[in-house]
Amino acid sequence: MIVMKFGGTSVQDAEAIARVIEIVRGRLAEHPLVVVSAMSKVTRLLCGIAEATIAGDREQVDTLLDDLLSRHHRVAEDLLADDAQRFMQTIVRIDGLWDELATFVDETCGTGRLSDCDHARILSTGELLSSVIVSAAMDAAGLDCTWLDARDLMTTDENYLSARPDLEMTRANVREEACGTTAGVLLTQGFIARTFAGDPAVLGFEGSDYSAAIFGMCLDASRVEIWTDVDGIRSADPRIVAQTRRIPELSYEEAAEMAYLGARVLHPLTIGPARSQGIPICVLNSHQPEGSGSRVCEDHGDIPQGPKSIALLTAEDARELKTRTIFDVSRKAQVSVIGKGIAADRDRIVGTIRGIDGGCAVSLSENGLSLSAIVEKDRAREVVQALHHELFK
Ligand code: ASP
Ligand code: MG
Repeated sequence: MIVMKFGGTSVQDAEAIARVIEIVRGRLAEHPLVVVSAMSKVTRLLCGIAEATIAGDREQVDTLLDDLLSRHHRVAEDLLADDAQRFMQTIVRIDGLWDELATFVDETCGTGRLSDCDHARILSTGELLSSVIVSAAMDAAGLDCTWLDARDLMTTDENYLSARPDLEMTRANVREEACGTTAGVLLTQGFIARTFAGDPAVLGFEGSDYSAAIFGMCLDASRVEIWTDVDGIRSADPRIVAQTRRIPELSYEEAAEMAYLGARVLHPLTIGPARSQGIPICVLNSHQPEGSGSRVCEDHGDIPQGPKSIALLTAEDARELKTRTIFDVSRKAQVSVIGKGIAADRDRIVGTIRGIDGGCAVSLSENGLSLSAIVEKDRAREVVQALHHELFK
């Protein structure tokens, strides 16, 4: 089996979902478990609903609820227009999920607070909605899809908004639900879960990657594919550097180092489960499925040495990522160069950074996988660009 996770931009509209279906069709022989996120910006919209609910702003709640419903109706209509019966069934499922949310929000609106568990309940709606549509569209396209409720699979602790999975229970659930089915495609949701006690929980911001890795581990998958809208893991943030490079292959350790140091490609927690079982993670682009992407795997000594990526971390990012950080000054930022054997490039890296931000200190991480410098925040982008030019020109 393989796990294929499609992020928010990969399921953002009918065109994107149609692309997903063709990508999955090409992998049917490998028995995919497909994991989907909410459509892009929907989780944020649901956060807005939660905020407006707390504030007791019914008008805003209604506007956002209407947006949510009309967006999903529209996509279902675009995909299923030729199949009236399936379209109606899908609308009924969408409306059922939406009604549940609207009722809950209506009951809690103006009470002045929502518990973390209430928040998790609201946020879970996005993945449920997107997966209902993708599932119907897959069936309509002849894919024989079985929809699984990820809340029946992923069992977590009571950290409702950044819940930690119980691997034993989750494995047992996944094996029971997923193994032995003869469906062509199994489809479930990322991010959402249920606690031991049966309450709603979510795995934290960008948690769908983490779900995919855990499902992959539970199924002994031969590969976990993370489908996104960039071609693989890049040598720097494309918003900072114009000509980034794709990293064809990197080790679990390098990918984890990149994640912790602020390179926003894989969720930092995603790597652990895959690594524990040596399952390769492939990062691929759903807009360009024939691209090679990046492969994160065990290093048997064949992964090339030297700089692979440059990451930038601000104090705000660090708080959001809950990552380790050696600074907490809002005027500063941390620039890191990641790659095994990076110490060999130390002089070049130090020289380049000091050329822009004179006095800064550069330190090698304990694991030898990265060199980091704390620089003035307003020079940080320039430092990243100069390093990229020096190391990857
Ligand atoms: N929808 C959730 C989020 O936006 C989970 C995910 O997409 O990974 O954080
Ligand atoms: Mg994502």
